[in-house]
Amino acid sequence: MPLKILALGGDGIGPEVVSSGLKVLEAVAGTISLKVDITEDLLHGAAWDAHGTFIRPETIRAAHGSDALLVGAVGGPKWDHIKIDGGPEEQDGLMKLRHELEVFASLRWARAYGPLLSRTPFRPEVARNADIMVVRELCGGAMFSPTRGIDGTGKSRRAYDLNEYTEAEIARFARIGFEVARRRHGKVLSVDKANVFMAGKLWREVVQEIGAREFPDVTLTHFFTDNAAYQLTCRPGDFDVILADNLFGDILSDQSAAISGSLGMLPSACLSHLSTGGRSEKPAIYEPVHGSAPDIAGTGSANPIGAILSVAMLLEYSAAEHESARKIEVAVESALKAGFATPDLGGTNTTQEMTDEVIQQVLRA
Ligand code: NAD
Repeated sequence: MPLKILALGGDGIGPEVVSSGLKVLEAVAGTISLKVDITEDLLHGAAWDAHGTFIRPETIRAAHGSDALLVGAVGGPKWDHIKIDGGPEEQDGLMKLRHELEVFASLRWARAYGPLLSRTPFRPEVARNADIMVVRELCGGAMFSPTRGIDGTGKSRRAYDLNEYTEAEIARFARIGFEVARRRHGKVLSVDKANVFMAGKLWREVVQEIGAREFPDVTLTHFFTDNAAYQLTCRPGDFDVILADNLFGDILSDQSAAISGSLGMLPSACLSHLSTGGRSEKPAIYEPVHGSAPDIAGTGSANPIGAILSVAMLLEYSAAEHESARKIEVAVESALKAGFATPDLGGTNTTQEMTDEVIQQVLRA
């Protein structure tokens, strides 16, 4: 059976970097005779311009029928003023897609790259070995709460967003985090504010229970979030997998991104399932962490590495093609070592040149 992929470029630089990702995927697939069946469609602003909706029902149906989705980025000033009835997921084609596929675990991968260390705010000896996977809960907590609003009038207004997690939501999320750690260096740091929030107390209790009962081979530590943020800055090389709720994960994943040298370097995966064999058997979304970068869209200067490494994550988690995933990661490192760099990395190479070099390195491996 071919690997069914739905590619959604989205807006701004999204289509440019997705095109790079697909070229690398096709090159790698050719080396291992992996059959891929790629369908392309529009998302968010591009879908609005063509169809008057941020995402068409047929796109959602195609997503449900895919093994994996490769998404660029969405949004831009042209569509910011458009307001649709309903919750936050209705205002954004990508959020709608995440909601529909219930991809509740977002894996955001930040690592240090030797040639880019001087572009980070860290001393090389502090960040050199940093390789962090922040696993962020994506469908719950205050950020997705239906219990939100602003009541009252004038000076007596009151605003609230309920930070709520059920035991089942924490447990299903923690299992994916532990499974990811098993495939990396076997270390999980779970962050919460169990000293202040009731949701944090339940979070810690459930993560501890799942870890002890189902993943005794994984080393589990708990930190309060403020301490985690501090330690992450002081000694980024000591972390492996970080488990965090929707809000804390949002913050810590951006913070850890600083070790990679550019936002354009970071890939991510959004999963709703991970078997004990480490494979997602439900549609998963792979996307670079960066946004649509309207300021550089169409200039041919976007860094495609976040999208290319998202393809590596796709091969890892949706195809169990571990060697091919490594091949892409090594090809990216080799391209950087060979001096290839887009403007965000201090170089002058175009998106196309960087993509071609990564493909050459893949074919050479
Ligand atoms: P952004 O990530 O688009 O850009 C921030 C800065 O980083 C810009 O200077 C941009 O040029 C640069 N940059 C980002 N990706 C790059 C790449 N691959 N190569 C080189 N430079 C890169 O964030 P923003 O400016 O805050 O947001 C722009 C739009 O993107 C907004 O509409 C926002 O809502 C949207 N956004 C979408 C996503 C997503 O779809 N996942 C994520 C974040 C922001």
